[in-house]
Amino acid sequence: MPAGRPAADVLDELRTLRGADAPTRGGRTFAYVYDAGLDGLDELAAAAYSAYATVNGLDMTVFPSVARLENDLIRSAAALLGAPGTQGTFTSGGTESILLAVKTARDHARAERGVTDPVMVLPSTAHAAFHKAAAYLGVEAVVVPVDPGTFRADADAIAAAITDRTVLVVASAPSYAHGVIDPVAQIAGAAADRGVLCHVDACIGGWLLPYLRRAGREVPPFEMSVRGVTSLSVDLHKYGYADKGASVVLYRDEQLRRHQYFAHAGWPGYPVVNPTVQGTKSAGLLAQAWAVLRHVGEDGYTELARQVAGASDRLLAGLAGIEGVRVLGRPSCGLVAFTLEGAEGPHGEGDLSLLLHLADEMRLRGWYLQPQLRFDGMPPNLHLTLTPATVHQVDALLADLHEALTAARALTPVTVDPGLIELAAAFDPASAPGGETPQLGPDEIAAVLAFAGLGDAEGTGGATALPDRMAPVLVLLDALPASLKERLLAEFVGSIFRI
Ligand SMILES: *Cc1c(COP(=O)(O)O)cnc(C)c1O
Repeated sequence: MPAGRPAADVLDELRTLRGADAPTRGGRTFAYVYDAGLDGLDELAAAAYSAYATVNGLDMTVFPSVARLENDLIRSAAALLGAPGTQGTFTSGGTESILLAVKTARDHARAERGVTDPVMVLPSTAHAAFHKAAAYLGVEAVVVPVDPGTFRADADAIAAAITDRTVLVVASAPSYAHGVIDPVAQIAGAAADRGVLCHVDACIGGWLLPYLRRAGREVPPFEMSVRGVTSLSVDLHKYGYADKGASVVLYRDEQLRRHQYFAHAGWPGYPVVNPTVQGTKSAGLLAQAWAVLRHVGEDGYTELARQVAGASDRLLAGLAGIEGVRVLGRPSCGLVAFTLEGAEGPHGEGDLSLLLHLADEMRLRGWYLQPQLRFDGMPPNLHLTLTPATVHQVDALLADLHEALTAARALTPVTVDPGLIELAAAFDPASAPGGETPQLGPDEIAAVLAFAGLGDAEGTGGATALPDRMAPVLVLLDALPASLKERLLAEFVGSIFRI
């Protein structure tokens, strides 16, 4: 006797809303989505999810099949990436895997080494999730610059940064920003020599690199079998092609993993043991990942890796033929980041402005390339994540890239009012004299957002209308100090989620 709207109506509305989003299938959205291009895979994932949607993964004694599915899945991950003794956990994503690995390292160091003021050593290209973990867990992040030519972590500099307070050292295989693999063996070896744990962030590469190797590509060792690697994260919702909400964190042994678990008996409710961050959790995500892994299979993943490598080769060759385009570093698999070289704009930020205009022009033509801003001497760039579904789109992409670049060059460069930057600097904690920083109030924030073309369209205090072109927003962001960037990003997103 539901008194609300008919199911068909509700579903219709959802489908209509989805029409405003970037497509997640078809190979034109080069970030956020992973499309194996396999017939029937989405339907399988949905059916497996649905079969387990109402099962609560919180209690495996009531729902024992949850333990069976998770053990199967971890066994597959350990067979691909583990070493003798490896144990692991299924999580909701790379961020959760990383949060858990950092918590484990922090608690391990406290218990085994008496470290009470923990530090982790990160290459500057480490994923933002490590900084999130640092902020959530009270671990200080020490950031070590990468090699400015290759964008790979500097193993010697990382080794030199290790102290008695270091609880974890991190290497990426590969990094998200540039898709290059850090020297894992040197970094992990240096950590082991000092008795410090080492996490390999293989969130994006872990389910691709081993299969690229099987497909005949050269891939340096980065797995748990490398001396000194004590934990590793791999996202199944990336190159495992599972639906979103599926990742694995592996540990060298059960004793280490024990520091990840949270147990609590000091309340009147049921006895709590949470291996992960969540309490109640749908077993649907685990079931769909389990089903996708089994259905694609070893040979399937090898073939999909071969397709990604082929797309990457063709894209790199095509980009090399476009005047002014420079690929950053030597990307090892599905990720490619390129920048534009050449004319400086009137305020010196011409390359950035042109690059962002290019991204906007590509978006108008139905492609999403992900802008990445300048950081620590590393050039701004556009980032592409290749999946098997993009294989057949490479030629069309390159053709539109030529056209979009011509269109972008004809546009007026976006510049930021120097007065605004001066004003902003006054609110920057890093540059304020005597540490006395005025706080940005709601009016100043609204003024800065409005300057970037953001702000609530009707002036009624409602939600921010998203702009068609992102270049003005991103050029402004790029010009601001990091702390202010972060503040504005938070205000901006808060203004979108406003009811
Ligand atoms: C995607 C990614 C993460 C974070 O994973 P989420 O699934 O987005 O939470 C961490 N590290 C790397 C290298 C990644 O590519």
